[in-house]
Amino acid sequence: MVSKRTQGLYKCKMKVVICGGGIIGNCVAYYLGESGITDITVVERDKLANAASGKAGGFLARDWCCECRQLDIFAKTSFALHQELATKFDGKASYDYRRLEAFSASYDADLKKSETELDSKREHLKWFNGPNIVAKSCNSIGTNENVAQLHPYKFVDTIAEYNLSRGIKVLEDTAIVSVKTEKAKAVGVELSNQTELECDVLVLCMGPWTGAAIEWFDSLPSCYGQKGHSIVILPKTELPGEAVFMELGGQFSPEIYPRPDGQVYVCGVTENPLPSNDLPLPGTIKPTENSCEKLKDIAGKVSDILCEGEVLTSQACYLPLTHDGLPIIGKVPQTENVYVAAGHGCWGILNSAATGKSLAQLITGCNEDEKINIEAFNPGRFN
Ligand SMILES: Cc1cc2nc3c(=O)[nH]c(=O)nc-3n(C[C@H](O)[C@H](O)[C@H](O)COP(=O)(O)OP(=O)(O)OC[C@H]3O[C@@H](n4cnc5c(N)ncnc54)[C@H](O)[C@@H]3O)c2cc1C
Repeated sequence: MVSKRTQGLYKCKMKVVICGGGIIGNCVAYYLGESGITDITVVERDKLANAASGKAGGFLARDWCCECRQLDIFAKTSFALHQELATKFDGKASYDYRRLEAFSASYDADLKKSETELDSKREHLKWFNGPNIVAKSCNSIGTNENVAQLHPYKFVDTIAEYNLSRGIKVLEDTAIVSVKTEKAKAVGVELSNQTELECDVLVLCMGPWTGAAIEWFDSLPSCYGQKGHSIVILPKTELPGEAVFMELGGQFSPEIYPRPDGQVYVCGVTENPLPSNDLPLPGTIKPTENSCEKLKDIAGKVSDILCEGEVLTSQACYLPLTHDGLPIIGKVPQTENVYVAAGHGCWGILNSAATGKSLAQLITGCNEDEKINIEAFNPGRFN
């Protein structure tokens, strides 16, 4: 029995193993470290942020997760935490953090000329000048009050560097292949390099692959991955901080994010979700034929500047999904010391900070009034 007086000491000495080195695993490690835990190991099958966390857009919106009240509050908290992190780590210089503007726009190949004439006097989106853009559709949907962006790979790199400087260990090119349990408790993990790590707490942050851990804990909910494509264009002229969310009719809705480094990120998600066990491993994911070309084609149609730009990167990755569209954050049912943080869908970069902080609070305890509410994300809600 641990006495109240020594509780803090045991907390600090607890050995935590985090499975997955994407943005979620690294943010959980960061906030656990800030809570005073010193023995933390992040185990990553590939390289840190080599899956969606390094290939995402990095767009952050304060008020766009309003389909569920708790997710809305959670996203607002996370948006504010990202501002705090950007101040602490000089986000502008370290990972291209900035506030920007966001616009909606529709493109319709069959439009009559009169419907496409854009107001030449408008102050925004001057670079978004292609024909067949529905003039009335170009509306402001976010301002520097409530939207921001960061470079997701550089963000993870910054957090991981800081974590390393605080003594947090990282094992790359190493997978967790099985978990040793005693009754309902995880006591260690077996690694792909045939070594073992002991643990007092295990945290599963395996993104779309989290469903594969059902083999270790059958009370885990199913997870899915949905393939998304993106390209990075280097235009000859730098574009202003104006993100565009396009509607083309049908399900394809490309997004365009000019970045402060002069590059422009364009992405779109089209394919059907697959269960975790059917997904390829991060290092082997290739774009589906024609998907990146389609993004370049549409970028070229809506902007002369993008049309003339050079495509630097063409890539694909998987969005992590759950059955009901909400993330799973909390203790895995029927276990004593296993936690999960996954299934963040298209808002994992935004919600990474609140996820890390709330899970650290759950694991280490905190004052009730400081607690971030994650009840709606309880992994036990499907049982
Ligand atoms: C095209 C696209 C654009 C996006 N744009 C945005 C955006 O603008 N804003 C936003 O908020 N979100 C965006 N997202 C969503 C965001 O990228 C994800 O929600 C987020 O990256 C998920 O992070 P993660 O750490 O859970 O998963 P991942 O980044 O997938 O990381 C999981 C890691 O776990 C590792 N792993 C799995 N199994 C094991 C094992 N057994 N042992 C060791 N390691 C293991 C994997 O190798 C992987 O590195 C976008 C997603 C896509 C696809």
